[in-house]
Amino acid sequence: MDPYDILHRQSVDDPEAFWGAEAAGIEWHRPFTRVLDDRRAPLLRWFVDGTTNVCHNAVDRHLATRGDQAALIHVSTETGSERVYTYRELFDEVNRVAAMLIGEGVERGDRVLIYLPMVPEAVFAMLACTRIGAIHSVVFGGFASTSLASRIDDARPKLVLSADAGSRAGKTIAYKPLLDAAIDLARHKPHRVVLLDRGLCPMTRVDGRDLDWATLRARHLDDRVDCAWLESNEPCYILYTSGTTGTPKGVVRDTGGHAVALVASIKYIFDPAGAAGAVDPVSGRRTFFAASDIGWVVGHCYTVYAPLLAGMATLLYEGLPTRGMDGEPDAGIWWRLVARHRVNGMFTAPTAIRVLKKQDPSHLTAHDLSSLDALFLAGEPLDEPTARWIADGIGKPILDNYWQTETGWPMLAVQRGADASMAPRFGSPGKPVLGYRLKLLDESTMDEVGADRKGVLVLEGPLPPGCMATVWGDDARFVDTYWSLRDDRSVYSTFDWGVRDADGYYFILGRTDDVINVAGHRLGTREIEESIAAHAAIAETAVVGVADALKGQVAIAFAVLRDPASMATPVDRLRLEGEVMALVDRSLGALARPARVHVVDALPKTRSGKMLRRALQAVCEGRDPGDLTTIEDPSTLRQIHDLLHPSPSIVA
Ligand code: AMP
Repeated sequence: MDPYDILHRQSVDDPEAFWGAEAAGIEWHRPFTRVLDDRRAPLLRWFVDGTTNVCHNAVDRHLATRGDQAALIHVSTETGSERVYTYRELFDEVNRVAAMLIGEGVERGDRVLIYLPMVPEAVFAMLACTRIGAIHSVVFGGFASTSLASRIDDARPKLVLSADAGSRAGKTIAYKPLLDAAIDLARHKPHRVVLLDRGLCPMTRVDGRDLDWATLRARHLDDRVDCAWLESNEPCYILYTSGTTGTPKGVVRDTGGHAVALVASIKYIFDPAGAAGAVDPVSGRRTFFAASDIGWVVGHCYTVYAPLLAGMATLLYEGLPTRGMDGEPDAGIWWRLVARHRVNGMFTAPTAIRVLKKQDPSHLTAHDLSSLDALFLAGEPLDEPTARWIADGIGKPILDNYWQTETGWPMLAVQRGADASMAPRFGSPGKPVLGYRLKLLDESTMDEVGADRKGVLVLEGPLPPGCMATVWGDDARFVDTYWSLRDDRSVYSTFDWGVRDADGYYFILGRTDDVINVAGHRLGTREIEESIAAHAAIAETAVVGVADALKGQVAIAFAVLRDPASMATPVDRLRLEGEVMALVDRSLGALARPARVHVVDALPKTRSGKMLRRALQAVCEGRDPGDLTTIEDPSTLRQIHDLLHPSPSIVA
């Protein structure tokens, strides 16, 4: 057995011993009395009775040794600004926001909704919440009012932190009107809204509710707020993710387990050299750049928490991968930043690399990348041509890793910290991460399948620390959604298909459910369908994810009209398509906008009325739709096929 196999075996055979030792990676205020309490499995409690604080571990703990080291490097190519905060400066800013939250009545256990662009204040806000034991719920700035309203109603935040606007490709995106519309829509009304004025867009304030960030900051300039010592299982944050129903699930992350897992992930996956004490010879520190929005799980874990917990500097980037500080096109901007800030580890999604692939590859070699150890990619399947292109271009290891919002850190990865000689394999995110018991199960028998056989990828309990504790406010939903493949609730379903080769490398083959992945972002087709169904002319709709060369997948919508005669001409239908796209933009955000909206007479369903989405998706992608014995009316699929591919039919 190689060193990885030995460690992995130990980690899953005796999780209490393994994680009991890993817990030394963070500071505890009061030691835990028990590593794992699984009496209510699959609901787990890690590091029972131990008290700690994530902000203490991410900020205060480093003051003595690296107070003057860079902690947060903010670069915005949208506003042409760059600012470096040392750990001491970060500490000051976090204390100001913490004092501001307390001043506005936020208490331990209260929820705070953060709807902010990629500004340093977003990081201060997240850390300030964890400092006082408030539970943050960061909502991606690209989400529009309906998505925001459903999250407000579920999390019931006492206070919202937001801004006048974000900016994308030089275009101002006003946040405040979206927030106001969301609060109007929501049944729950937050008491306070604190607004950061970036000077990008005028705002109208709601009297008695809206406050100005800068004014409050000035009021609390010299305040200090003690860290709240939370029991390890108190929630740190809620992060919503899409599923098969129209209602997003609030993934709850705990406090101690979350911090321990992230520190372990730096050691085994993301920066083994730094964890072993190495520093960059030029910067004298370790620097990580996860180019993900803070509204997504990668942003939470690898832009904010993990690098700071590990004492690294983290780079927070607002902008596109192809636009420079002066607003001019610059396909080398990321590599320029790597060179300039001596980035040691970089993390993004394959989509971003596919965007860069359209540019001249000379950008990849125009900058000094000597600091960079590896490029990490996750969030969607990494196709081999893209992996090879970027590997050849930058001459660094390309380390795909596989995980979900729910797990909070990778399940599959190349773990150089467990075995320095572990090599990546094209097309595979790697091997099961220490602590994870991965299995592939046959879809119908639920028995484990062997090498080279496709199966549903599951995790056998107990899940390691850092994975979701529950669905916010709904333990039953957590158990029913994820743990119902087997009657004994012994396995967690990832809802992904996978296959393992003879050497133990896994390959991900796509989702088993109706979740789609657009440019590394996860969307539920149900949410998009519900949004489209609000159009007065539409009787019924189906949305599927269809393969796209750039974004991995895009949403394609099919609509049945209430009154087909009223929209008979191609011009009518084009107008309808535009209206539907605008409707989805307004309610969910542009990411969810269908690439096409096709008007059809009827949708393909089984005799029991279940939508045949997989068949619809196959037809869209020009594939054989497979077994259609259950279809109610085969002509529905034939019509769609002929509409999309006006050539010989593959549908019998
Ligand atoms: P999210 O929760 O938004 O991070 O989406 C998680 C889903 O993205 C997973 O269930 C997979 O379907 C997909 N995914 C994430 N990482 C990878 C990867 N490295 N390779 C293939 N699919 C991935």
